[in-house]
Amino acid sequence: MSQRIWILGAGQLGAMLKHAGMPLDLDVCPVDINEATAPALAANDLVTAEREQWPETLVTNALAQHTRFINKNVFGRLADRKTQKELIDTLGIATAPWRNVAGDITANELRDQLGERVLLKRRTGGYDGKGQHWLRTDDDQVPEDWQGEAIAEQAINFDEEVSLVGVRNAAGDCVFYPLTLNLHLNGILYASVAPLARLQALQAQAEEMLGKILNALDYVGVMAMETFRVGDKLLINELAPRVHNSGHWTQAGASISQFEYHLRAVANMATPEPQVVGQNVMINLIGTDYNPAWRDLSCARTYWYGKEVRPGRKVGHINIVGNTVTEVRETLVLLGDLLPDQHYSQAIEWSLAALESL
Ligand code: ATP
Ligand code: MG
Repeated sequence: MSQRIWILGAGQLGAMLKHAGMPLDLDVCPVDINEATAPALAANDLVTAEREQWPETLVTNALAQHTRFINKNVFGRLADRKTQKELIDTLGIATAPWRNVAGDITANELRDQLGERVLLKRRTGGYDGKGQHWLRTDDDQVPEDWQGEAIAEQAINFDEEVSLVGVRNAAGDCVFYPLTLNLHLNGILYASVAPLARLQALQAQAEEMLGKILNALDYVGVMAMETFRVGDKLLINELAPRVHNSGHWTQAGASISQFEYHLRAVANMATPEPQVVGQNVMINLIGTDYNPAWRDLSCARTYWYGKEVRPGRKVGHINIVGNTVTEVRETLVLLGDLLPDQHYSQAIEWSLAALESL
């Protein structure tokens, strides 16, 4: 019988893990945390998660009690931005300077300590730029219910945003993809480009940072590290103990996708180095209706999540992979005409410019 792996959470990441598990003969079962009945867990099953934080429900309690919940103690530690930052500091890894928001500390005190512009982030629950609050002027205040619930970060005047996705197996071996260049607009990821030859100079630095974290946590599976590039230095923005949106390009652009690596590591299978295939661009579909014309583009593969379309909501992504940069560029231009102008013209322009800077 094939190995069963339960996924805490049944969103798009869970679905893509399930998809990746089929050729590996893994029975991957995402579970909605609000299901009325608990999953029928067997002692030999494995448990992992597609999200780093979860409320207590019948389902999450059942899964959390399983003895083979891989990385169980890591999630809470990284889901809380305060304990995540403390871990990064303890390991002596560069990150945006920060303070805990507690004890009625004022906006001006935070700006005195961290600089003119300060970004407050809720300790838990934020995503896609939600749970953020800027302090830019003397009039800006710490929202009342944020004391004890947030951290404050110095605004980093970064050159660009770069992420590293890596996997560590149970034997402690780590494998990394090439660095990915990311465009965030209003705190939401719109586009990723990989690989980029010019980022190779930063690869060793990035791998050392994430490798140190993976080893310190004795972590098994895929983790993503979002960074800011400032000159030739990387600063950690945040860590995600799971498969990550900036690694979606690996579905088309690598011999082993991030989803497959995660399952391989969790199921204690081999995790050989990935072969990276061609030039890749990933475009997120955000609050955009499905357009069948996307299927006409030969270099584009659309992943549709089957969710209700709402403004600002990630409802799918398109991986563009080509043997040549020219092919990818042509596809991007065609795709640009099949997407709403708002934000997408910027995302397409940005991707084309990134390919110029190879
Ligand atoms: P995700 O959906 O990736 O989990 P998130 O909402 O949890 O995102 P962050 O990744 O912390 O939050 O921030 C979202 C974006 O906001 C970043 O990608 C970056 O563009 C911007 N940002 C975050 N922190 C800073 C900072 N200290 N200085 C400048 N910009 C920042
Ligand atoms: Mg982020």
